[in-house]
Amino acid sequence: MSEPVVERLALIGIGLIGASIALNAREKGLARHVAISTRSAETLARAQALGLGDSYHAEAAEAVRDADLVILSVPVGACGAVTAGLAGALKPGAIVSDVGSVKGAVIAAMAPHIPAGVHFVPAHPLAGTEHSGPDAGFAELFVNRWCILTPGEETDVAAVETTRRFWQGCGANVETMTAEHHDLVLAIVSHVPHLIAYNIVGTAADLETVTQSEVVKFSASGFRDFTRIAASDPTMWRDVFLTNKDAVLEMLARFSEDLALLQRAIRWGDGDTLFDLFTRTRAIRRGIIQAGQDTAQPDFGREHPKKA
Ligand code: NAP
Repeated sequence: MSEPVVERLALIGIGLIGASIALNAREKGLARHVAISTRSAETLARAQALGLGDSYHAEAAEAVRDADLVILSVPVGACGAVTAGLAGALKPGAIVSDVGSVKGAVIAAMAPHIPAGVHFVPAHPLAGTEHSGPDAGFAELFVNRWCILTPGEETDVAAVETTRRFWQGCGANVETMTAEHHDLVLAIVSHVPHLIAYNIVGTAADLETVTQSEVVKFSASGFRDFTRIAASDPTMWRDVFLTNKDAVLEMLARFSEDLALLQRAIRWGDGDTLFDLFTRTRAIRRGIIQAGQDTAQPDFGREHPKKA
């Protein structure tokens, strides 16, 4: 095993993302000591039962004492208050990071609480599932996924490098960009697709002419793939839309314009417009597979049961 990236790692919040980081830190020896803290006694006890850390703390301030790297894995809307609660216990030279799906609002909420002499390196691993809580964590979650760092211009270069090495140690590819750019990119690749999924599943649930049982029965026709995304954590996604409002509204406006064009093409029997778009979108799928971001197996490699 190579040298650890940091001596003491403090993980504040130990759900899907926090637990997956913990498993990496321990399995790959990225930290000599992993200290864990979370809001509820139940989740802390579960993390302990799963053996995710070396020490467990009811108070976040206790976990971060003497930590070299502190990673907050809590909902975006809670990042400011959680930082305020632990800031006083941070040691000079420590790095504070997060995993929030929105960067501009999280930075605005956390930065005012970061003491002088402590480095703030915001991060966002583009990896997740529709499951929550410490039991949902798994070590392979970040392998060949991107982790985007959004440090400020003044941020200490060595602190950014340590954070980069930590995420690379988890198997992620690391890229750096501004928080503003991150929020715009994520609005189109993640936030708007989630909103569309929530909307279409909601529309189907409200239909009266097609019964709910038919929606479930015939779901493999396409609907099913939206339901995975629409099963994502309600707290997390509420916070994403409340905090990345401008970028989401900008991308949603473009989406609505393009949807109106498709509506028009269908109304006027303009098959060429439909065919051209569907041809271009197929190419995007091929690009994602070539970039190693998904499997080339049909139907996402799902197993299809054979009829007896
Ligand atoms: P999760 O599984 O629901 O875990 C959430 C953790 O945050 C738990 O430890 C929970 O503590 C704690 N928490 C919840 N509300 C809190 C509050 N108001 N104050 C303090 N702590 C609170 O969530 P997750 O999926 O790991 O997501 C955590 C972060 O990762 C979010 O910021 C999200 O944007 C980001 N992220 C998620 C994904 C994804 O697909 N899930 C992907 C990339 C980034 P208790 O259980 O003890 O109450």
